[in-house]
Amino acid sequence: MFFGGDPFEHFAGMHGGGGSRRGGMGGPSREVDTTKLYETLGVDKNADEKEIKKAYRKLAVKHHPDKGGDEHKFKEISAAYEVLSDKEKRAKYDKYGLEGLADEGGGGGGAEDLFSMFFGGGSRRGASSGPRKGESVNHPLKVSLEDLYNGKTAKIAINRQVIVGESKMCTACDGQGVVIELRQIALGMVQQLQRRCTECGGQGYCADKRKERKILDVMVEKGMKHNQKIVFRGLADEKPNMEAGDVNFIIQEKEHEVFKRKGADLLITKTLSLNEALCGFEWIVKHLDGREVLIKSKPGEVIKPEASSQHPFVKIVPNEGMPSHGNPFVKGNLYVLFRVEFPSDNELSEKAVKELKKVLPRPAMDVAYDEENVEVVHLDHADVKNFGKGGATSHDNNYDSDDDGEGPGQVQCQQS
Ligand SMILES: [Zn+2]
Repeated sequence: MFFGGDPFEHFAGMHGGGGSRRGGMGGPSREVDTTKLYETLGVDKNADEKEIKKAYRKLAVKHHPDKGGDEHKFKEISAAYEVLSDKEKRAKYDKYGLEGLADEGGGGGGAEDLFSMFFGGGSRRGASSGPRKGESVNHPLKVSLEDLYNGKTAKIAINRQVIVGESKMCTACDGQGVVIELRQIALGMVQQLQRRCTECGGQGYCADKRKERKILDVMVEKGMKHNQKIVFRGLADEKPNMEAGDVNFIIQEKEHEVFKRKGADLLITKTLSLNEALCGFEWIVKHLDGREVLIKSKPGEVIKPEASSQHPFVKIVPNEGMPSHGNPFVKGNLYVLFRVEFPSDNELSEKAVKELKKVLPRPAMDVAYDEENVEVVHLDHADVKNFGKGGATSHDNNYDSDDDGEGPGQVQCQQS
């Protein structure tokens, strides 16, 4: 068996990839209902906080189930008030209707309940509608293993587009994002062409925009992993009549020259001399947080160049791996992959060899032979890559013999 298994194999392919942009959604926008809640409370669309509160109190008293009112009506009133009394929710509702509140977890059920309350039946958040959310932007973020071990906050500036004032429905396409053109192609024959509205760029809505520079505190938490996302919700470009997409930072773990990482475990390679492997060693590892860890063999401990059948010989220092993300006090393990450097030819003196032969277990026994009947040979250097290339260059026909007479396509591996 040859040493084939690269112990780092499974670490390969950790890098690369990253920042891809998601496809846009820029379909035509549907008109949304942004008046229903006002109607429920019987107030004007630009009623102020006081008026809304007053209207709600009046209706709540009138329709309270305890006083013989209709429970469903009462719930509608409460739900409408909950949205309109909250500045943020109200603004969202004004812009996007009830669907704009879909992400509002809040008071049990949130928008799901609102939908069924006001429109009956199940949720309207189906494939057809869906909240109009702009595309998210992914930024790759290179992070050193030290920073993933210790945690870090990086200040990163982003440039984004923000909407100034209200967005208005596009008059050229009536908010559809597309316009229909009729073209006469022959007498009495009209071709209908649909094209993207140039006025609003297919958004259906227009708005004044400006550029904004924003500094984000990007928190790299202890134990975060390669390709993990740090999400800033709604900080991508603002688009008219759309919820802004997210800005995501995708962690790209930088390769470390000492430690390899897999999950919460770390791996380090150590080459020992044969002397150290047999007689013991001490060795200081500078850890990712700057601590110096002294790794010391136990008396009698023997380090081998390789464990059974091509498996590398590893040992672990428990709990000296990476902190677990979300639970940094629980750490992985630190694996040590050992290599043992044997002395070179002629590096050992004759005297040393004699001594070793005396002290090392299981010395070679003398073989009894008759010099007339054996051939004495010695070993040369070799490379296992050349195995099979020996002999004279072959001029045989090179196709594979097909001894068992099966048709083509039937490949069998048989060993005799
Ligand atoms: Zn338009």
